[in-house]
Amino acid sequence: MRIHRPLTPEEAYRIRKECGSSSYLLGGTYVLSIGQAYDDLIDLNGFIPSGISEEGDRIVIGAGARLEDIVLSPAVPGILRSAASDCPSLQQRNMATIGGNAASCRADGYMTAALLAVDAHVLLYDGDSTVDMPYRVYAEKHSPEWIILSVSVSRSKDGTVKRISRASHMHAAVTAAVCGDTYAYTASPSSIMYGNRDCYKDMELESDLTGSAEYKRYLLSVIFEEGRDGNQS
Ligand SMILES: Cc1cc2nc3c(=O)[nH]c(=O)nc-3n(C[C@H](O)[C@H](O)[C@H](O)COP(=O)(O)OP(=O)(O)OC[C@H]3O[C@@H](n4cnc5c(N)ncnc54)[C@H](O)[C@@H]3O)c2cc1C
Repeated sequence: MRIHRPLTPEEAYRIRKECGSSSYLLGGTYVLSIGQAYDDLIDLNGFIPSGISEEGDRIVIGAGARLEDIVLSPAVPGILRSAASDCPSLQQRNMATIGGNAASCRADGYMTAALLAVDAHVLLYDGDSTVDMPYRVYAEKHSPEWIILSVSVSRSKDGTVKRISRASHMHAAVTAAVCGDTYAYTASPSSIMYGNRDCYKDMELESDLTGSAEYKRYLLSVIFEEGRDGNQS
């Protein structure tokens, strides 16, 4: 395996295009895990920012910020801090980045539902230019070669996220987040939906190790039930 250490997004993108079996590497918690095998790894740590700053009315989180940095930052809206803290292992939170997590767009993702609910944006390099894109658009049409440089969210956005799994260290069966009147739901292995409170009803659910499709539908129907969530009217 070859490891490349580019110093610019342009160089990283070019290497990724040239290499067949390759992946970007940021925190490495996924790409260095057992079972992953690439001929070329492109380490983005040479240029990806990792700071958290306030810019106008937005909080800008460098893609290289570790999940634990997010948990500990008072500047970050509580819903994102809570989502990051749903990663149950301190060792993993100290390595895993918001960029790697956002890029993965996993339906059992720690951050996916919360990023959709707060209408987060990603700043990314798409091979031609640097583009500011709603995460909702990114989740639908991203290309694996695009490079996320940062994630931003309006300071006024906050809400609640809930992750349900059979045990804390297991993958989530469902995760749900709400911000104002926008709801986002994710269900393992591959369902992602956002919209009004009832939009989960349109999700195509599958049975897997995290639970049956019927179990997930039940969870989604009660997860924000009146009276169970302080955030609800
Ligand atoms: C045992 C185990 C359990 C896990 N459970 C979960 C889970 O329940 N939920 C969950 O969400 N994740 C889970 N993960 C996956 C992983 O730990 C997290 O998704 C983590 O946040 C990925 O971040 P990273 O920085 O480590 O990414 P990396 O491992 O470095 O990269 C992950 C992916 O993101 C891409 N990538 C990385 N950075 C960028 C960037 N800046 N721009 C574009 N693409 C990029 C890479 O190409 C790669 O495809 C698990 C991993 C392991 C090993």
